[in-house]
Amino acid sequence: MQKETYFGVDVSALSYDEILADLKNRMQQDLKSTIIAVNPEKVIKAEQSNELRELINSATYQIPDGIGVLLASKLKGGRITSRVTGVDMMERLLGFAAKEGYRVFLYGAKEEVVSKARENIIAKYPGITIAGYENGYVQDPDQVINKINEAKADILFVAMGSPKQELWIREHMNKMGVKVFQGVGGSFDVFAG
Ligand code: UDP
Repeated sequence: MQKETYFGVDVSALSYDEILADLKNRMQQDLKSTIIAVNPEKVIKAEQSNELRELINSATYQIPDGIGVLLASKLKGGRITSRVTGVDMMERLLGFAAKEGYRVFLYGAKEEVVSKARENIIAKYPGITIAGYENGYVQDPDQVINKINEAKADILFVAMGSPKQELWIREHMNKMGVKVFQGVGGSFDVFAG
């Protein structure tokens, strides 16, 4: 896969469409994929933390969310020419899920935020299946994991801030039938409006 490395942090040099095509392929092969957004703040933090760097580099796709990553790529003569933001990636994935019939689960944010985000997503993406949702303040991971598995979710968005959401995904991903995991920070708040 096309990657560039900045201060030890990998960044995928792929557009939204290239990521979706690759994801579709991986889903058909029953492979799990994780998406993490990379910005300069995370690159700086990762320089001081091996754990964070490994967490970022272990994802399938490290999307170039920040403008700083584009500038770095430009200076190095790299291939990253446009941003791939966390919230836009989520929008693309929602469109993809609606089109292909994949089941989506939303986990994170406050109860009223995630339920409103769900409502607005259904209105925006006709035909989408939001198979379930849970707020990000439930303490027992098994309770959430059971709910996600009972919902037979294919795509899971986790909105609990970074790196909390990515740590949660890494710790629990193999207990779930989910194929695509994205940590989306404050995106449910954006969708809730
Ligand atoms: N959040 C959560 N559980 C927690 C902590 C935070 O669900 O234990 C939610 C919070 O309600 C908000 C989001 O995570 O919706 C945090 O978004 P933020 O903008 O801080 O994340 P970032 O995009 O900066 O990573």
